[in-house]
Amino acid sequence: MEDFEMNGLPAIAVRGVIPIPNNEFRIEIGREISLKALELCEKKYDNEVILLIQKNPILTDVESKDLETIGVKAKLTLKLKLPNNNFKVKFRILERVKIESFVSTKPCFMVETSSYPTFIGDSTEETALVRTVINEVSKNAQLVLNNADDVLRIIQLGVTADEVTDVIADHLKNVEFKYKYLSEQSLIKRMEFILEDIAREKQIGDIENKINQEVKKNIDESQKEYYLREKMKVIQNELGDKARQDQEVDDLKEKIMNAKMPKKIEEKALQELQRYSQTSVQMAESNILKAYLDFLVALPWNNASEDVNDLTKVSESLNENHYSLDKVKDRILEYLSVKIMTNRNPQTILCLVGPPGVGKTSLASSIAKALGRKFVKQSLGGISDESEIRGHRRTYIGALPGRITKGMKDAGTINPVFLLDEIDKMSSNYRGDPASAMLEVLDPEQNSHFSDNYVEEEYDLSQVLFITTANDLSTIPAPLRDRMEIVELSSYTEFEKYNIARKHLIDRQLEIHGIDSKRFEISEEALYAIIQHYTREAGVRELNRVIGTLVRKSVKKILIEKTDKVSITVDNLQEFLGRIKYFNNLNRNEDQVGIVTGLAYTQFGGDTLDIEVTYYKGKGGLVLTGKLGDVMKESAQAALSFVKSHADTFKIDPLLFSENDIHIHVPEGAVPKDGPSAGVTMTTAIVSALTGRKVDSHLGMTGEITLRGTVLPIGGLKEKAIAAHRSGLKTIMIPQENAKDVEDIPLEVVSNLEIIPVKNVMEVINRALV
Ligand code: ADP
Repeated sequence: MEDFEMNGLPAIAVRGVIPIPNNEFRIEIGREISLKALELCEKKYDNEVILLIQKNPILTDVESKDLETIGVKAKLTLKLKLPNNNFKVKFRILERVKIESFVSTKPCFMVETSSYPTFIGDSTEETALVRTVINEVSKNAQLVLNNADDVLRIIQLGVTADEVTDVIADHLKNVEFKYKYLSEQSLIKRMEFILEDIAREKQIGDIENKINQEVKKNIDESQKEYYLREKMKVIQNELGDKARQDQEVDDLKEKIMNAKMPKKIEEKALQELQRYSQTSVQMAESNILKAYLDFLVALPWNNASEDVNDLTKVSESLNENHYSLDKVKDRILEYLSVKIMTNRNPQTILCLVGPPGVGKTSLASSIAKALGRKFVKQSLGGISDESEIRGHRRTYIGALPGRITKGMKDAGTINPVFLLDEIDKMSSNYRGDPASAMLEVLDPEQNSHFSDNYVEEEYDLSQVLFITTANDLSTIPAPLRDRMEIVELSSYTEFEKYNIARKHLIDRQLEIHGIDSKRFEISEEALYAIIQHYTREAGVRELNRVIGTLVRKSVKKILIEKTDKVSITVDNLQEFLGRIKYFNNLNRNEDQVGIVTGLAYTQFGGDTLDIEVTYYKGKGGLVLTGKLGDVMKESAQAALSFVKSHADTFKIDPLLFSENDIHIHVPEGAVPKDGPSAGVTMTTAIVSALTGRKVDSHLGMTGEITLRGTVLPIGGLKEKAIAAHRSGLKTIMIPQENAKDVEDIPLEVVSNLEIIPVKNVMEVINRALV
């Protein structure tokens, strides 16, 4: 070892990195041979060491032949032991050296070196080159240098050309074969290398830039394309819609021009059309405008049907479609004759009043047919909001026209027969009073400029022939009723129902079901049985439905059983319709205590109404149950008072009243519409209950009483009589004052019903109790 000290320095082979003088050099040292050299240099050589450049960085064990001939002399300035026992070291590179010989290779390299000086050439050339290099480096510092700022700072310090070259060479980012900066002795050459490297780097940079730009361009391009495509779609949509809209606008314009609206409205429509053509299809407004314009053009403005002003024809048509109803038909013909004579609509409106199913709607439709007019119907039942009649303002979302203009649109002519169904079922609420709107519709003075909120413009209803229907006259507001010519239709008797079925309903059902009338037959008894036991109504709706069922089942039978003809008799009726539903007149054949049959007049026609009375231990109270209107409750009080005050006449112990509670029950108390009429019935039932005497079950009665027992007149006698007959009663007792109404009762009923007018309830009681 001693020898080595004299001759040469310890050497460390480095790989992959080239130390350049005038720079710091940091490496990690791990190879045993290198660690030995490090140790030695510290101990014996004042931290000086030779760094050898390994030709092939991959080799671990190297020999002298694997090392470059030029190396550097370096001074160890920092040594850190790493956890893996390697050392992180820093050298200051001092100078280039030429390796002259390897003194030893074990335990570490020891080399003899000679100096390897830098040749300085022509100073002008050198100066020029230095400037160029500094200039180039400064210009492209970030592009070509690692730690550019440090390098620039060092250059600023005004170091020698040699130093500058070394520092730059060491910091160049991309150097082709960096060893050349060590091995080249000529400074000028080294500077030329630098310029070349920079130029190359710049070129690469340019190319990279170009590539980047190209890439960016490509990306931009595709984004641009995407963007453009998207835009194009929107534009195409717009254009497409526009085209569609243009077509629509043209169509609408044509329709508006053809609609022959009043000038003012036409102008307005064109204005709105203009707005429509300018609103985007995407906007909600567009739909609203479209709906409005569509509605305007669909409304009839000018189109009228020609009236058939032939009363005979009207009469024929009514007779053809409706059985009996002679009085009603007469009234209708009178009404229409005024119209024909004056050639304008009568001042009053026809109002057909009667229970459901008696033919009000079908009469109105027959009138339309006979006059050759269009027929439209709008139901007013349940309307409580004025805007149902007058429409909503268009500013509301989902605004709709009112039922009147809507009906006119459906009619398509300005002079249809317009049926306003159930005008008695309108009510009023905080949203206004539909009845007053109806007044405007029906008033010939006003309806030529009816205003619908939706249409916004006046609409002429003066050519329309309005007909209204109602079940109950009493609930029609008085101002409306004053405008109307009331025509009452009453319940049908069984005989009438029978004939309506025979003459109309059966044929119509056969036609609907496409079956030849020769293949279906129903006996008289069967038809009556249907009327009595399968339906219970004032009109013939249910009957019509039941006949429909019969015909349908017969068709099935004909098809499945291949029979020629179906005959329906009382015997096979149940086979078709199932069990009997109503026992009307079979109901109570037995006389009972405390049960009396009253007669009521409801909006569904006349009906019978069993009133039951009983009493039990109590404190003299009156208990009322069932569907009793307030009016009936008062009747009950009056009845009880009358019985109390005549207790001795009836031989009732007065104590009975104070020691018991009396209970009055009205089982199916359909609320009557004719006001109080159950006084006599209740009185009779109370007396029967308290005296234990039975009541004639074939007797019906109607009439209100005063406290003295006077029987007061009632309404709806005809309906009540028909109902009594329908229910199989044999006798009815009516107020004396109603005796004059008996002539209204159909003959068929009168001839089968004993009708006894009475003045005082005593007469009723005497007759009723058996
Ligand atoms: P409403 O309007 O009074 O409730 P509809 O006019 O709807 O009654 O009548 C119900 C059905 O009964 C319809 O098919 C109708 O043709 C029929 N109808 C009612 N009365 C008669 C009648 N007198 N003659 C013939 N068919 C009638």
